[in-house]
Amino acid sequence: MQKTLFLFRDDLRLEDNPGYFAACEKGKVLPVYILDDLAPKVYAKGAASMLWLHHSLLDLKKSLENHLHIDKGDPEEILISLIEKEKIDAVYMSASFAPWYRSFDGKIEKILKKKGTEFSLFNSSYLRHPEEVVKDCGKPFSVFSPFKRKSYKFSVRKPFPKPKEPHWIKSKGSLQVDDLALLPTRPWGKTVASHWEFGEKAAHKKLNVFLKRGLHGYKKGRDFPALEHTSRLSPHLAFGEISPFQIWHAVEKADAPEKDVEHFLSEITWREFSYYLLYHYPPLPEKNFQKKFDRFPWQTHTKLLSAWEKGETGYPIIDAGMRQLWQTGYLHNRLRMTVGSFLVKNLLIHWHKGRDWFWDTLVDADIANNSAGWQWIAGSGADAAPYFRIFSPKSQVERFDPEGEYIRHFLPELKDLPQKYLAEPWQAPEDVLRKAGVCLGKNYPEPIIDIQESRKKALAAFQSIGKTT
Ligand SMILES: Cc1cc2nc3c(=O)[nH]c(=O)nc-3n(C[C@H](O)[C@H](O)[C@H](O)COP(=O)(O)OP(=O)(O)OC[C@H]3O[C@@H](n4cnc5c(N)ncnc54)[C@H](O)[C@@H]3O)c2cc1C
Repeated sequence: MQKTLFLFRDDLRLEDNPGYFAACEKGKVLPVYILDDLAPKVYAKGAASMLWLHHSLLDLKKSLENHLHIDKGDPEEILISLIEKEKIDAVYMSASFAPWYRSFDGKIEKILKKKGTEFSLFNSSYLRHPEEVVKDCGKPFSVFSPFKRKSYKFSVRKPFPKPKEPHWIKSKGSLQVDDLALLPTRPWGKTVASHWEFGEKAAHKKLNVFLKRGLHGYKKGRDFPALEHTSRLSPHLAFGEISPFQIWHAVEKADAPEKDVEHFLSEITWREFSYYLLYHYPPLPEKNFQKKFDRFPWQTHTKLLSAWEKGETGYPIIDAGMRQLWQTGYLHNRLRMTVGSFLVKNLLIHWHKGRDWFWDTLVDADIANNSAGWQWIAGSGADAAPYFRIFSPKSQVERFDPEGEYIRHFLPELKDLPQKYLAEPWQAPEDVLRKAGVCLGKNYPEPIIDIQESRKKALAAFQSIGKTT
């Protein structure tokens, strides 16, 4: 019987995990998770992700009948030592398209080849390999629509079943999940955790609820943060508790209008596009995709950045968004764009600062989606929002929170303010504020900037970098 080590990474599930399936089919299997101590800062998990990982590993370990071997440190050293100790014949894992993991995979493949140990990577986390979807001339796409058109020419394979009755290799010396010290010591972690259920079963439950209640009307409803039309599958996808193949087929089969199904699958394809960009442009998390943005006159405003992070800008739609993020570890896509635009365009703060805050506080923090999302907002990305498109906080409220339900939920101090003044409370007459119990500067901040002035400054800064790349 072949003895295979299967290394779990961001694919913490047993169903539709082709590498794990193959390992179980071939003979005996040793399931392993290693917390990578060497990952550089942009890859080392943030606080909210660590919290999710803790719960997800507990779930995975239970599903593996407690046979998950857990360790922490240098993944290369740990793997080699396990291979020698347990006399492993083959190492399987899901392919990752993130540069840090790709270089690890290349290195480990060479080492194992020399040792005569089989090594195989399986594509389980993305619908298509980034090398597959290219222009007719062989070059990668940098614009979403043609990428999507070409991607749709490939069929999406059916999900793999969960392996039946695996034969375990029983290793010694595994750490416990608690030994990884992933949980934050601050009470913040408990508040965030209270909003979620973790693990593979919870991911499928979330998908089923979405198919019943959210998908019908998704195309329009996905833009309204107070409505429950988005799936909230992002953290489950980020940790691989569910695969895009499983989601794709379930959504295609769902009883919902074609326009909603098509739009949802298109968003899943945006996730593919982010990874595609990262694969073909590895510096994406750090460097501007459009070089001209290297000349952008970003400013350092420690106080303004802190007000943004805490949700104390005096712009209710921005503050509600930043409080949703802090309290729940999630932020609605419309708000990711709105608060992002406010940071990089109205406050002129580098997108790296927003990237870092999101990375630490989002339970779905994902190296490709987060980097591509911030570059899209900053205007520096591939197929990005043009820099001169600056989101107006006021019109975002008028269009997407017209009853103020979202703002009032996250900013209860403004709950009695009439809708007319909810976007810009400082425009309300004194008696209206008093009646609503709002005292600007005391229980809700004055605006930290003048939006029109900041808009002019942003456009001038953009002009200054010129048109050439
Ligand atoms: C500045 C910024 C940062 C972002 N950071 C992340 C991040 O760290 N992790 C992350 O998963 N997404 C990120 N996104 C993309 C998007 O906001 C989230 O994927 C989405 O809000 C997740 O909620 P949902 O699962 O309810 O989405 P749904 O609307 O239900 O969409 C289903 C799935 O499609 C994918 N998807 C949806 N919108 C996008 C998009 N714009 N780009 C790429 N994939 C998308 C996600 O995998 C999502 O789970 C970011 C967007 C911006 C503008």
